[in-house]
Amino acid sequence: MTDDAMIVLKDLSKAYKVGPSTVRAVDSVDLEIPRGQLVSIVGHSGSGKTTLLSLMGGLTKPSSGRVIIDGTNIWTLADKEMSTLRNEKIGFSFQFASLLPTLSSLDNVRLPSTFGSRNGSGDIGRAAGLLKLVGLEDRMYSYPGQLSGGEQRRVALARTLMNEPKLILADEPTGDLDEDTEADILEIFKRINSEGITIIIATHSRAVASQTQRALRMNRGHLAEDAD
Ligand code: ADP
Ligand code: MG
Repeated sequence: MTDDAMIVLKDLSKAYKVGPSTVRAVDSVDLEIPRGQLVSIVGHSGSGKTTLLSLMGGLTKPSSGRVIIDGTNIWTLADKEMSTLRNEKIGFSFQFASLLPTLSSLDNVRLPSTFGSRNGSGDIGRAAGLLKLVGLEDRMYSYPGQLSGGEQRRVALARTLMNEPKLILADEPTGDLDEDTEADILEIFKRINSEGITIIIATHSRAVASQTQRALRMNRGHLAEDAD
């Protein structure tokens, strides 16, 4: 394991018992992702992508194996330390992560900091800057219901960035978007990545995968470097 690894997975498995059968959603995965890499995980529906991302983020407990984030074997931590690590280091961008309908874009983006250590007007400035980063400086006072699907995704992405994560886990971030909007979202991910943040994107889209530095392929719970 190299010191500059953002995340390391060692012989990681997750099996679900469903009735009489066992589904090996993630099966003996070994992986090392260096800091600052932009990685895609491609695979068909049901191949285990979402399970793998939730294992990476400590949202799902492995059946066996280890998840090491920034040098810490996360399942050796107490609950409180685990949630601190999650809050401080990981940004989740999951497909159906929704915005609060009664808050403006600006307040939705500020929301994570109200649970965190930041406070006051500095937050407003930071949230506004993040909305600018995702190209929505002119939608700061819009409510989610007044935004398109792609714009809502961008607000959610800005919210993910609010606590300055080192690692972003994105599950199908362009899942239901048209090609142009997909390209916009990818550009934003690249911009965020260029600031040194490690990003892992699960996707069934080859077009998305072709734009990342490194593509991994998931097939029936197994993970391998993508050949093409
Ligand atoms: P993907 O994101 O690639 O579509 P998932 O990780 O969602 O794949 O699912 C991988 C496999 O694990 C599927 O066969 C799915 O049915 C199964 N699975 C996922 N979550 C659960 C669960 N909570 N209980 C039982 N089976 C599950
Ligand atoms: Mg999925």
